[in-house]
Amino acid sequence: MNDNYSFETLAVRAGQERSQFNEHSEALYLTSSFVFDSAAQAAARFSGEEPGNVYARFTNPTVTMLQKRLAALEGAEGCIATASGMAAILAMIMALFKGGDHIVASRSIFGATQQLLGNILPKFGIETSFVDGGDPASFRAACRPNTRLVFIETPSNPLTEVLDIAALAEITHANGALLAVDNCFCTPVLQQPLKLGADLVIHSATKYLDGQGRVLGGAVCSNQALTEEIFKFLRTTGPTLSPFNAWIILKGLETLKIRVQAQSSNALELAQWLERQPRVARIFYPGLPSHPQHQLAMRQQASGGAILSFEVKGGREAAWHVVDNCKLLSITANLGDTKTTITHPASTTHGRISAEARAASGISEGLLRIAVGLEAVADIEADLTRGLA
Ligand SMILES: *Cc1c(COP(=O)(O)O)cnc(C)c1O
Repeated sequence: MNDNYSFETLAVRAGQERSQFNEHSEALYLTSSFVFDSAAQAAARFSGEEPGNVYARFTNPTVTMLQKRLAALEGAEGCIATASGMAAILAMIMALFKGGDHIVASRSIFGATQQLLGNILPKFGIETSFVDGGDPASFRAACRPNTRLVFIETPSNPLTEVLDIAALAEITHANGALLAVDNCFCTPVLQQPLKLGADLVIHSATKYLDGQGRVLGGAVCSNQALTEEIFKFLRTTGPTLSPFNAWIILKGLETLKIRVQAQSSNALELAQWLERQPRVARIFYPGLPSHPQHQLAMRQQASGGAILSFEVKGGREAAWHVVDNCKLLSITANLGDTKTTITHPASTTHGRISAEARAASGISEGLLRIAVGLEAVADIEADLTRGLA
């Protein structure tokens, strides 16, 4: 599709391939394998001499449409869809790196990613150094001669610390490594890491890309050469995205921009309201001038995003009081949904790390995280007002 089309147009049109029936909406191909016209064609398809579908662990037309559309939105040459966000991270690392390689990662990344890098990959000889805070100099200091990957998430969860992607890309490349950015929080609507110098973009499509809490999915977007390497790993090992989930996410992309924009503007309004509440000690939201990296966030992102955290005065008891008085907001750690969610990180997502480590990373007992949805902001405020009274 014409590269000059704008984001909005690509989101509803890019990647679509019509079948012989000329359907208007993208078709869902629920088939695990594909038939050939002849023995010679089967041989040519298997050898790769002739392009085309063979078996759905390799390719499926619905999955291919999603991959092309997401690549277009990230400004990537290629995209590989996977069964979940974690499958995307695992496939990317297993395909591109080997025992003896070293990874540098920001510490405040998704919990399962931390487990994968910190506890599982060392069994295969891949070590990770975790860096506290967003200072690019500490990433430089953590790099070793065998560092092959720098892995970050920005903004961070749950404190919304913003990392400078362009500065980190420079440091990463000076060390001969690749920069991967988990772009789950921002989506390509707010931030396109490849344009800022990153080499790989990771998605949990489970979050905003689906956006309505229906399916699991993931993706890696990158250049042609890296995408091909990851595809080779995927077609052999099988953490492939199912066609049904691909179809749901493909249709989710069509409304991604209007959802993320509306949810972000709701989040800004809610953040401004929370800042005025006497029971709120502190608010973390990149869209507010009070945020320590507000300038960087406004340069790097189209808006502050739809996720915010705030500290309630009175510690865990006061924070739980707010959660327990919610009748509308969903008490769940999930995010990226049209329904607003609220969670108490210290006793849930960050509950297994020691109290000291939690305190050191700034996750206090009074901290609550909200992933803002599409409800009226007044209704969200009313729900929080009971617990904040
Ligand atoms: C949810 C999430 C993941 C993992 O994605 P799954 O689809 O649940 O496997 C990775 N990174 C971030 C930032 C997430 O929020």
